[in-house]
Parts: sequence; C-alpha cells; structure tokens
Amino acid sequence: MTLSNMLSDPRLFRQYAYVDGKWTHGDGGREDTVFNPATGEALGHIPLLETEQVSAAIDAAEAAFVQWRALRADERCERLLAWYDLLQAHREDLATIMTLEQGKPMPDARGEVEYGASFVRWFAEEGKRTFGETIPSHIPNAALGTLKEPVGVAALITPWNFPLAMITRKAAAAMAAGCPVIVKPAHETPFSALALAELAERAGIPAGVFNVVLGEAAEVSKILCFDDRVKALSFTGSTRVGRLLLEQCANTVKRVSLELGGNAPFIVGPDMDPKEAAYAAVAAKFQTAGQDCLAANRILVHESIHDAFVEQFASRMAALTVGNGIEAEVDLGPLIHRQAVEKAASIVDDALSQGATLVAGDQLEAPGPNFFMPTLLTGVTPQMKVWREENFAPVAGITAYGDDDQVIEMANDTEYGLAAYVYTHDIRRIWKLLRALEYGMVAVNSVKMTGPPIPFGGVKQSGLGREGGVTGIDEYLETKYYCLGAL
Ligand code: NAD
Repeated sequence: MTLSNMLSDPRLFRQYAYVDGKWTHGDGGREDTVFNPATGEALGHIPLLETEQVSAAIDAAEAAFVQWRALRADERCERLLAWYDLLQAHREDLATIMTLEQGKPMPDARGEVEYGASFVRWFAEEGKRTFGETIPSHIPNAALGTLKEPVGVAALITPWNFPLAMITRKAAAAMAAGCPVIVKPAHETPFSALALAELAERAGIPAGVFNVVLGEAAEVSKILCFDDRVKALSFTGSTRVGRLLLEQCANTVKRVSLELGGNAPFIVGPDMDPKEAAYAAVAAKFQTAGQDCLAANRILVHESIHDAFVEQFASRMAALTVGNGIEAEVDLGPLIHRQAVEKAASIVDDALSQGATLVAGDQLEAPGPNFFMPTLLTGVTPQMKVWREENFAPVAGITAYGDDDQVIEMANDTEYGLAAYVYTHDIRRIWKLLRALEYGMVAVNSVKMTGPPIPFGGVKQSGLGREGGVTGIDEYLETKYYCLGAL
C-alpha cells in the first residue's frame, strides 16, 4: 500500500517543495528518495532545489514580511488558530505520515502531533502579549520606553527525530511575532513538513509566510546563513552541525538559536524504591527508540540500591516490544537508518572492550536491519563512548555512585547540558542537586518535562536560547528603545 492510500486525505502527502504559496519542482531535476526506516521501502521522492530557488524562497519571505507584520496580532492569532484546528482535525493522517517516514510507534506519533499543535495554539495567543515597556525617565521632559518588533525572515533547520513538533515549536513563535519562515526539514522526514505546509495554506496563512525548501543540507543551509535578508536562524540538531551554522551566521551577525544534543544523567538517590525509579528510567531512555535529545543516557544509581535497580530495569526493558511502528502494540520502532544501528553497535562494543557488562540486548533478535534491540550495560565508566557521546539509540548505561558530591561531578562530566533527571524524595538532596547540575532543564521525580509553557533549552554545548514559554517568542523579536523628548 502506498503512503497516499493510507491517508483519509491523500492531498496531505506532497512530494514538492513549497515556496511562495506554490508547490515547486527542482529546476535542475535533482531528486532524493525518502525511505520507510522500518521496511526499507521507498515512500516517495522530493526535489532538491537549486541555489536560485532557495534564494527565491528568501525573496518570497521578505516580500511577505511587509503584509504579515502589518497585520494586527489578533489577526495573526486567528490564522494560527485555524492552522491549529486543522492539525488537530488531521491528527491521524499526520501521525501516519510521521510513523512511515520516521518509524516511531503510532501512539507516539499521535502524541507528537498533539504536542506540536499545542505550540501553535500557545504562540497564537502569546503573539498578542509581546508588550514593550515604559521606562521611568531620567531625562527631563521625556518619555522613554521600548517597542517589540519582529526581526524579519527566519530560517528554521530541523531534525528527523521529531519531524513535526520541532517545526511548529519554532515556526509558531516566529509567525506569531510577525516573521515569515523558511523551513529546511531533515531529508529523512520531509513529508511531515510538507503536510504542515498544505494545512498552513488551507488555514489562510498568506503565500510566502510559511515556506519549505528541500535540498542538499549543506548547500541550502549555506545560502540561508550567508544571506543578509535572513535575520534569524533557529536550528535543532547535532552539536557538530550547530557549531558550523553558528560560524556561518557570523558573517551576517544573525540572531542564532540552537537546540543541540544532550547526554542526560538520570540520578537515583538511596532513598528511592528501585522499581519505581527503574520504571521511570526505562520511560526516560527508550522514548523514540532512544533517539531523543532528552533520553536518559547515563543512569547513575546509588550503590546501596544498584543491584535491585538493575534487576528491575532489565525486567521492565524485557517487556518492551520492538517492531514496525505502524503495527499495534509496538513500543520501539526502528532507528532512522543503518548507520545509526552501526553507531549503536560500535558504542556497545567499545563499552564491552573497556570492561562494561552486557546485561541484556541480543541483536540477533532484531526484526530487521534498521532495528536495535534495547540494550543494558552496567559498570559504565567515563572513558567509554556510551558515557561521553550522545548514543541516540536504545542503549542504556548504568553506573553506581557513593555520595551526592560524587554524583554531581559525574553528572556534570560532559560537554552537554540539556536536561537532567533526579529521583529522590529527600528535599535537601533535591535542592543541592538542582542547584549544582549544569543543565538547562532538571526534572525531579518526573520523566515528563516538556510542553508549550516551559523554556526548553540547554547550557554548555547543548545550545543557545530557549524555545517555548513566555521567552520563546523573544527569539524572533527586536527591542526598539525610544526617547520622546521636548514634551
Ligand atoms: P543533524 O545535525 O545531523 O541534522 C539536523 C538538520 O541539519 C537536518 O535538517 C540536516 O539536514 C541538517 N544538516 C545536516 N548536515 C548539515 C550541514 N553540514 N550543514 C547544514 N545543515 C546540515 O541532526 P539529526 O541527526 O537530524 O538530529 C539528531 C540531533 O538533534 C541530536 O544530536 C539531538 O540531540 C538533536 N536534537 C536536539 C533537540 C533539542 O531540542 N535540543 C531536539 C531534537 C533533536
């Protein structure tokens, strides 16, 4: 069965770029094929745009900026809410597209549509509250204050692990602020982005305000980064590419927001029930088959409950079902491609060669070449790749620790600083860890931490800026100060 046959609204499956309100072929005839990672089957093709076509998207966005910023905030809100309603109405089709191109189980894909749509609603409203300030004047006979103004055209470069929500979390904020956007989705998952464009058009978002360009990543990104008319760049993806884009944006001194990799510690205190903590750790590790920047990579368990925790973790992990996400009752889908499987295998080999113990994870049971079975390693040490690198796979590493000072040092021993988890009921320990952990986000006794009201983002090499929350829209606003003299 083809992708479009699986949709109740086949027009949501688009195989063109979307520029200035038009569905666009690549002028040079170059194409890319998109595969279903679970089956290896080709799902469809996308055009690779030429340099002039990407520049044309910038022309279109710049032209659209004039009218879009001139709308009243409540008029932009109405259009964004219409988009939100359509996302909700087409949730099942959007989830199907996402599962087929990304691999995640359908319940997770439905959850992501819901999560992605929630940013559209949040920022639709937030756009009405981009207040300036009145400043008590120190200058005689003057009134001082600030205005908030949209920065201009924003380029949004997004990853494949959350193909829809990583776009709406940026685009809704930018559009609510009055900025047109040019989205460059990951080439593995373009169809979710194109379905968003189809629904934006139906919602009455004017031509040029929401554009999707497709092409060779380094080529397209260079054009977006070097063009002075693009005033802001927001990127979610690896730290490696984030560094490169930051460097490229230096030429035009752009506003840059980066949501990069993570290497989350999951700290379990000695007072915890091992089963409760282990079940939470499994939930925090295996979401999206471990391909999640918030995944609990380094599980640090107090030595007094380590063995009981490992037993509970292994038994909970054994209950996870691995398979094609389009089928019912699947907990973990495939990894995005074969290279990701190879990387996971090499990380496990590296750990074993340095003395880690493989508690579970038999790759002979994998249901296909892109699958990696949930794997548990104990005796993980800081020299191992599984500690140092973001493994982006269902590979969990557990290490025992002795006291709070030691676990703080272990948790902070990484270049990343996105999210950390703490499980303990001891209020003194909670406060001590909360203050000492070098992370942008700390979840205590909860694996759920994201959503529209929160300022999502990292410190150290996990990023710059915050997405969501009351500050998320600031990434797309300039502060203009005024002084009205001689009053
Ligand atoms: P990636 O950096 O390889 O790709 C991200 C985007 O950059 C894609 O659109 C890709 O096409 C593009 N890209 C790739 N190479 C490029 C280049 N040389 N020049 C310009 N653009 C290029 O990352 P990924 O593998 O798609 O995603 C996984 C990464 O994303 C992980 O590190 C993960 O932690 C991170 N991530 C972070 C967050 C967050 O909010 N902090 C959320 C999701 C994912």
